Amino acid sequence: MMPDSFELGPIRPPSEAYSLLIRATKNCSWNRCKFCHIYKGQRFELRPVEEVKKDILAAKAIQDGLKALAWKSGYGGSLEAVAAAVLSNPPSQAYFNVALWLYHGGSSAFLQDANTLIMPTPDLVEVIKFLKETLPSITQITSYARSKTAAKKKPEELKALHEAGLSRLHIGLESGYDPLLKYMDKGVTAADHIKGGRNVVASGISLCEYVVLGLGGKKMWREHAVETAKVLNQIDPAFIRIRTLTVKEGMPLYDEVQKGNFVRASDEEIVEEEKLLIENLDCHSYFVSDHITNLLQEIEGRLPDDKEKMLATISRFQSLSPEERHNFQVGRRVGIYNELDDMEDEQKHRLAERAIEKLSDDGKRVSNETIYFLMERFI
Ligand code: SF4
Repeated sequence: MMPDSFELGPIRPPSEAYSLLIRATKNCSWNRCKFCHIYKGQRFELRPVEEVKKDILAAKAIQDGLKALAWKSGYGGSLEAVAAAVLSNPPSQAYFNVALWLYHGGSSAFLQDANTLIMPTPDLVEVIKFLKETLPSITQITSYARSKTAAKKKPEELKALHEAGLSRLHIGLESGYDPLLKYMDKGVTAADHIKGGRNVVASGISLCEYVVLGLGGKKMWREHAVETAKVLNQIDPAFIRIRTLTVKEGMPLYDEVQKGNFVRASDEEIVEEEKLLIENLDCHSYFVSDHITNLLQEIEGRLPDDKEKMLATISRFQSLSPEERHNFQVGRRVGIYNELDDMEDEQKHRLAERAIEKLSDDGKRVSNETIYFLMERFI
């Protein structure tokens, strides 16, 4: 009998929220980055191709079951309606994932976990081809990769992956500043980032590079911003995606913060860092801030044309009075505001004022520690 469940890894990029998740490898092949807790304590495993294929068949079985249900149970054949019904009470996480994927059109898949590219290329090609043959509605297949692995792959291997159907790779660049990469034990250098990123771009696979704002802390923020921009300029990825540092128990960086070896930057300092990063970018990437940890999530646009527009958003925030900046910061961190315009909503503004009163000792200013605590609830 066909199993009605399959393996799922812990994470996917925010932009892959509606993708079918197929776990091609387990955990992280590096697993040492100080700022990351996701796979700590878990051993990396290459999954046998046959096992991954079984999971793809299980996803298809769930899909077919939902299609059959759409005809049988009075939904008039509407897959969206039946998927919506399953989403409210899914029998398993795998069902939930398939229903969500179908509800949103069933066109994209994301291969988990942290560095799928490390699979032997023929195996990865086989998985991608099987996925497309088994679920032909999928037109976009994406995955995470490490720069180091992308730098080691031969150009013809990356081309073969692209031809098989690999549309996009998401790489955690984090920073382009070597001393910071070393301190964070990222296991790559700026040169690796450039080589790996360029290899991917040259193969035709779309590339999304992730940058972590605040990663340099109070000490290295300038170099982090400037050197990261230099590396990105040399790669010229299709997308640059921004996240902001959060520090949780379980991350080696958490202990560094406790010992006082790493001093975190404040939200306002991070905005200054982002300004420096954007000012130094000279590439054609689409810049996106679609992560809940980012203070100014609305900073988005095509470089270089939208650079001034993005910098204007930063100026708009920086030119607010200190009280209004703090109102926005707290409102954003407690989930009242999504963007600066939301401050014009009187009710939301009042709610943010109340949040400040409640969360601060003096009724006026919420400490950075409390702000960090609020941010860490999101991840
Ligand atoms: S390579 Fe990625 S998943 Fe692995 S430890 Fe570093 S940040 Fe975490």
